[in-house]
Amino acid sequence: MSNKYLPFKTHLDNTSKKYNCPQCGKKTFVAQVYADTKKPVDETIYGRCDRQEKCKYQAMGKTDTTSSFFTAPPPTVYGKFSGQTYKRYHGGYERNNFVQYLKGFDCLAENLEHVLKMYYIGTLPDGATCLPYIDNENILRAVQTKNFGSDGHTKKNGNSFLHAHREVKDEAWVADYKRSDIKVSCFFGEHLLQKFPKATVNIVEAGKTCIVASAYFGDIENNIWLGAYSLIGLKKYKYKCLVDREINLYPDYSKNAIDMWTADAEKISIYCNSLVNVMIDEYTGVEGSDLADKILKENTHQRVGGVGG
Ligand SMILES: [Zn+2]
Repeated sequence: MSNKYLPFKTHLDNTSKKYNCPQCGKKTFVAQVYADTKKPVDETIYGRCDRQEKCKYQAMGKTDTTSSFFTAPPPTVYGKFSGQTYKRYHGGYERNNFVQYLKGFDCLAENLEHVLKMYYIGTLPDGATCLPYIDNENILRAVQTKNFGSDGHTKKNGNSFLHAHREVKDEAWVADYKRSDIKVSCFFGEHLLQKFPKATVNIVEAGKTCIVASAYFGDIENNIWLGAYSLIGLKKYKYKCLVDREINLYPDYSKNAIDMWTADAEKISIYCNSLVNVMIDEYTGVEGSDLADKILKENTHQRVGGVGG
């Protein structure tokens, strides 16, 4: 039996579920399962036959405990982001520079308002955009602030997090919240997974791209868009919410991003028992650009009297 190296912790299934034994054929086979998801590694090979006297079949995949992917401890997350604080910034689309820019595109018009509400987009007093990260249990984990100009591009200043904003940073809850190892501990749009349990999950880097793609492609019940936050945002601690989904990854258009997300796709596929596609040919674009850039660029001609993207 060849050794299969597994990137996750496993153990023998401790429920009463049995499979047909690959050796004796009787339904007495206890599968080796992943510790987190309880899914069999491969119930046609890995596990142990209960007929220890007569059959003795046993094969276990080994865990590769040396990889940093396996050894890295999960981040510690302390206090929640204050929902009361975020309420002050939620909405305000008539003053939001990014929303006003997107309103110039006919191809987004039908779904834009609904999508903004769905992702709970907000606005800072200066017109910058608030992108809240709400997890699978409806807990607000972080609010990213992006200062988009009237051309849709990000300005140099004002790109940060709401808890660091001068109007917020001295509030009582912030001190505890700041003790966390990481602020972005979930996907952007993760809260939508429970609302649409059958939907295909499309993952991009930026929250901006989720908004543009959701509005452009529509069909939201069947296609959810999640943001990983960054190139290195496909972390193991975020995988749990993706179990049993069909998943499409849309890396930004650069060789580095495609290579990294292709490697992540394999890990997600094993961990989540999911089909994971890396969508590269679907959108060949300018080096360093992303799907939102491509959609907006291709539809710039629609803009009325417009400053193009
Ligand atoms: Zn057997």
